[in-house]
Amino acid sequence: MPGRGSGTIENLLSERFPRMLMLQTTSACNASCVFCPLPGLRKTMPQGKMSEALFRSIVDQAAEHPEVACLNLFLMNEPLTDRRIVQRLHYAGERCPRAQISLWSNAVALRRDMADRLLDSPLTSLGVSLHAHHPKTYQRLTGRKDLYRVLADLVYFVEQRLARRPDIELVLRYVGASAMSDDEKEELREFWQDGQLRLDVDDGFLSRAGNLRAPAEVTTPHRWMAGCKALGGPKQAHVLYTGQVVLCCMDYQRKSFIGDLNEQSITEVWTGQQRRRVLEALYGQRPADEEFICSRCELAIPGSEPSMR
Ligand code: SF4
Repeated sequence: MPGRGSGTIENLLSERFPRMLMLQTTSACNASCVFCPLPGLRKTMPQGKMSEALFRSIVDQAAEHPEVACLNLFLMNEPLTDRRIVQRLHYAGERCPRAQISLWSNAVALRRDMADRLLDSPLTSLGVSLHAHHPKTYQRLTGRKDLYRVLADLVYFVEQRLARRPDIELVLRYVGASAMSDDEKEELREFWQDGQLRLDVDDGFLSRAGNLRAPAEVTTPHRWMAGCKALGGPKQAHVLYTGQVVLCCMDYQRKSFIGDLNEQSITEVWTGQQRRRVLEALYGQRPADEEFICSRCELAIPGSEPSMR
């Protein structure tokens, strides 16, 4: 079915405001994961933090739309490196009480004081990108040597969550499952079995739309596509720290520009011509050029020219 995962282009274009927003409150990260394009790009691209005025403007606009289901204060970064992140969670939760308020983090900065502050915040969902259970695997995949310290602090968060905030959804993600031995995978399952959390252990190593080399990367760019398999993808508004909006969280090179919240409202971006044009390319209503982010993405659904359908 065309557009499964991301839905149909008709549905996407009928929206006047995104149901889900991902906000990059800082572009910083404190790890160097082998399956992330950021380490190879961060020195070649501008980096920075989102201003408080821009952050509040985005949240205030979302607060006017009860259909907003999720505000994720994470996008191609490590959100706990933002020293304002907890106060921003509070602001988002107070202004958008019906929305899920979520974070994805590598937990490196999830020290005990941060754990306590998160548990006292409106956070409703936390994903942790952990990736390994043995120090050698962890260092190979993330560039870090402090797995046992990270695990000790994460155990504190898990225990305190069970006691104080069992409503917070918690997912631990391991994307490099093929880098772990069977013993390591078994040990991590045993280690977390009483944590009342979800383990997401998978071999889904993606090229991040051609930004990395990966087993299943697209070597011949898609010219015609029929949508996107990702559950988020074009359904979400992805706002960079600058206020620019890009099509997808795979766009580490910031090329799929669809608007600028310094000059436009979210509604103007979401109903604008630039978004329409990229969706038309993703859904096969026009051919895509090689530079288009989805052209090299494993999650794009290959399509055919209109005359061949
Ligand atoms: S880059 Fe990939 S995941 Fe993102 S919208 Fe395009 S096809 Fe979907």
